[in-house]
Amino acid sequence: MAKKRIIILGAGISGLSLAWYLSLQDKDQEIVLIEKQEAPGGLMQTVEDSRFLFEKGARIFKTSTSKELLSLALDIGMEKDLISSPSDAHCKYIFQKGKMIKVPSTIFSFFASQVTRPLLRSLCSEWKKPASIHKDESIYAFIARRFHPEVAERLFDPLTVGIYAGDIRSLSIRSCFPSLKKWEEEYGSITKGFIAARKNRKKEELLFPHHSLFSFKRGISSFLHKLAERFPIEYSQEVQKISFANDCISVYGSDRRWEADALFFATPSYVSAHLLRDHVPDVAESLLQIPYASLTVVNVGFDREVLPFKAFGYLIPYGDEVLGTIFDSQVFPQQNRSVEETRLTMMLRHQSTSDKDIQKMVRKLLEKHVQIQKEPSSMHITEAKRCLPQQVVGHEERIGALLSTMQRQLPGCFLAGNYLFGVSVNDCIRRSKQVAGQWASIL
Ligand SMILES: Cc1cc2nc3c(=O)[nH]c(=O)nc-3n(C[C@H](O)[C@H](O)[C@H](O)COP(=O)(O)OP(=O)(O)OC[C@H]3O[C@@H](n4cnc5c(N)ncnc54)[C@H](O)[C@@H]3O)c2cc1C
Repeated sequence: MAKKRIIILGAGISGLSLAWYLSLQDKDQEIVLIEKQEAPGGLMQTVEDSRFLFEKGARIFKTSTSKELLSLALDIGMEKDLISSPSDAHCKYIFQKGKMIKVPSTIFSFFASQVTRPLLRSLCSEWKKPASIHKDESIYAFIARRFHPEVAERLFDPLTVGIYAGDIRSLSIRSCFPSLKKWEEEYGSITKGFIAARKNRKKEELLFPHHSLFSFKRGISSFLHKLAERFPIEYSQEVQKISFANDCISVYGSDRRWEADALFFATPSYVSAHLLRDHVPDVAESLLQIPYASLTVVNVGFDREVLPFKAFGYLIPYGDEVLGTIFDSQVFPQQNRSVEETRLTMMLRHQSTSDKDIQKMVRKLLEKHVQIQKEPSSMHITEAKRCLPQQVVGHEERIGALLSTMQRQLPGCFLAGNYLFGVSVNDCIRRSKQVAGQWASIL
C-alpha cells in the first residue's frame, strides 16, 4: 500500500501534539505541518530581552489537570526543564471595588472571607435543590440557581474572566466548568459530587503528589521548539485554499501546493471556516458563529522587588478593561535572571491605542492596584486578536453536530484546536490525541 500523506495546518500546540500522536502510530505515513508564521507555537511564545524572560501566552499549568502535557514533555526528554511553583505563590486575589481581597485557601479563611461567605451560606441548602432539566445554561444561571447570585458575581465572575476572558452570563457551564454540571447530573448536587471527587482525588494524588503548578525553566518555547524539531514544518506558508479531486486533497499555501490523503485543521475556527466554506458550508457557518475574545498582553519587568505581597496575582470582575495580572517572578522564580527582579503580566481587553498610551495606562493601573510607582525597566506589548474562543451556552451540542456533519461529508478531514473542547493547553493536546485515534481507527 502507498504511503499515506498527512498534512496538518497550523503548528500551535494543537498541530504539534497531533503530529506527535500521529507519528506514534504504526503506519506507513508521512506527516507535514504547514504554518503561517516563521516559528512554531502559535499563541504561545517566550520572549527574552537582555534582562528578562517573558511569556506572551500560556505559562502556567496545573499538575493535576495537565497529564497529557506532562507526559508529552517527559516523552520528548524535557524532564530536567520542568519547574514547579513554590506554594506561597499559589494564592490569588480579586481586585474589587478598589480593594484587594484574598481568595481563601485554608478552611478558616474560607469562613471569614467576603468572597466565599455567600458560598458557605448557600452550601447548607445546595444539596437539597432539584437538578435542572436543561442540558446547558450560562455559568451565571447555574451558579445563581444552585447557590446564590452573589456567589456567581463575587467568585465565579472573576475566576471565569481569569480563564476565558468572558462573561458568565453568556458562557456555558457545561463547556467551561464541566465537572460542576456533571456533579449535578450524577449526584444531584455539587456538594455531593465534590465530596465524591475528593475521595477519588486522594488516589490520584499518589500518582501526582505535588498538587502544584508547573512550567518550563527556559520558557514554553523551549518545549515547543523541541517538539517541532521532530517534524517537517513548512513555515511562512499561509494556507489560502483547499480542493478535492479523486480522493486527493490539494492544499494551496502562499506560493506552493501540496497533496494529501488526510488533512487535519489545527487552525483557529474562523480560519478553518474560510478554508471549508466551499466544501461544507454548514460546518463553515457553525465555525464562524464561535465568538472570540481579543486581548492586549503586557509583560512588565523591574530590576527590583516591587510587589507588596507574595501571590499568584489578582483577577478583576468582568467589565473592567483589565482582566488580571500574574506575578510571574513569584510564580516561577526559577526563571528570574536576578534575585531582585520582578516580572508581571497584565492582561487587558484589546486596546486599539498606541503603545505609548498602553504603557501609560499600565503604569497607572499598577499604581492603583498594587501601589507600584517605580518606572519599569522593560515592557513588551502584544496584541492577541481573536485569541480566546468563547464557549457560549449550547456550545457542546453545536460542536457535536458540526463534527458529525464533517465526518459524513468530508471523511478525510479532521478538526482540532482550542475552540472545540476547551482552551487550556492540556485540552488542546487531549483533543489532538483523540483525533489521531479517530484517524487510526479509519485505516
Ligand atoms: C494570553 C493567553 C494566556 C494563556 N495562558 C494559558 C495558560 O497559562 N495555561 C493554559 O493551559 N492555557 C493558556 N492559554 C490558552 C492556550 O495557550 C491556547 O488555547 C492554546 O495555545 C491554543 O493552541 P492551538 O494550537 O489550538 O491554537 P494556536 O496557538 O492559535 O495555533 C494555530 C496556528 O495556526 C496557524 N495558522 C493560522 N492560520 C493559518 C493558515 N491560514 N495557514 C497556516 N497556518 C495558519 C497560526 O499561525 C498558529 O500557529 C492562554 C491563552 C492566551 C491568549
